Amino acid sequence: MLRITRNCPWNQCLFCPVYKKRKFSLRSVEEIEGDIQTVRDIADDIKALSWKSGNRGIVDDQVVSGIFGSPRYSDSYRSVAMWLYYGTGACFLQDADNLIMKTADLVKVLHSLRTKLPEITRVTTYTRSRTALRKSVESLKAIREAGLDRVHAGLESGYDPLLKLMRKGVSGAQQVEAGKKMVAAGLELSEYVMPGLGGQEMWQEHAVETANVLNQINPHFIRLRSLRVPQRVPLYQKLVEGSFTMQTDDMLAEEIRVFIGTLDGITSTVTSDHIMNLLEEVSGRLPEDKEKMLKVIRDYQALPDDERLIYRMGRRGGAYRSTQDLRGDPVTYEKLKNLVASIEAKEGMEGVEKFIIEMVDRYV
Ligand code: SF4
Repeated sequence: MLRITRNCPWNQCLFCPVYKKRKFSLRSVEEIEGDIQTVRDIADDIKALSWKSGNRGIVDDQVVSGIFGSPRYSDSYRSVAMWLYYGTGACFLQDADNLIMKTADLVKVLHSLRTKLPEITRVTTYTRSRTALRKSVESLKAIREAGLDRVHAGLESGYDPLLKLMRKGVSGAQQVEAGKKMVAAGLELSEYVMPGLGGQEMWQEHAVETANVLNQINPHFIRLRSLRVPQRVPLYQKLVEGSFTMQTDDMLAEEIRVFIGTLDGITSTVTSDHIMNLLEEVSGRLPEDKEKMLKVIRDYQALPDDERLIYRMGRRGGAYRSTQDLRGDPVTYEKLKNLVASIEAKEGMEGVEKFIIEMVDRYV
């Protein structure tokens, strides 16, 4: 991870727990290039250590344990050693919205990164669609050619009244235009969608309009990351006041079914691998896997009430990844069944729901 800007220049989204109360700032090109040079120097040092110990420049277990086992080496050495050890070649640019840099500056940074660190095979960044929209396709192309491969954009929703309510600072039409520009520039685009963001009040419009926006962009990836509302996010206040009502897990399943059902005419890959998502298997390539994804949801919806509850308890506790797991391990199933029964006996169904919510919120 290489930090090229600090925090988020927008910082107003009601559901967002990060960067709150932290001021946004740009880092200078010189400062970032200094960091890149530091990584190069450390990487060279680690490779020299490997040669010295007879490992021919390869950063293996022996080299890594030598670095972790000695107080002489700083955390920076440990980070670079792990990066070389795993050899993914991935570099993630931090923080929330790096396309906000002047194109010439970002191109310079990417050029330094790619020439100084040829070990890098993929560079990814976050951006706001509103920021990407301000760049021309030519600028985005120059950024792509300088070495940026993939962009993650937080679409969250395509429904304008909801985007406004959540202070996302962008409309559905602007997200379409920004997404199309990034794809036209040759960037690999990953759009994050937030199931649950419409609450019980706007879930249907949220599901349908978000899919309609994505149908116009055809991004490479659609990533689902369900809403959670910890006390530290501004949206929590609306929950307390009662003007926003969370979707239950069963309502979320129906919302995602409507969303996937409305995706049409695109070739995106859908992923749902985040632990906050109820149904991880809602993933695959469109259009061929659409029916498979819908079946995962229908299978969950067809479970008897008590089994849906056991699945939710298992999923939120990290024991289950799929409704098929309910059949795979009778011991875990019995344990979860007894846990549900004992909480229900003491605190009723309300207690069971509270317990499940607390488990999910651990991951926020
Ligand atoms: S733009 Fe992204 S990082 Fe910034 S407040 Fe909104 S969700 Fe959070």
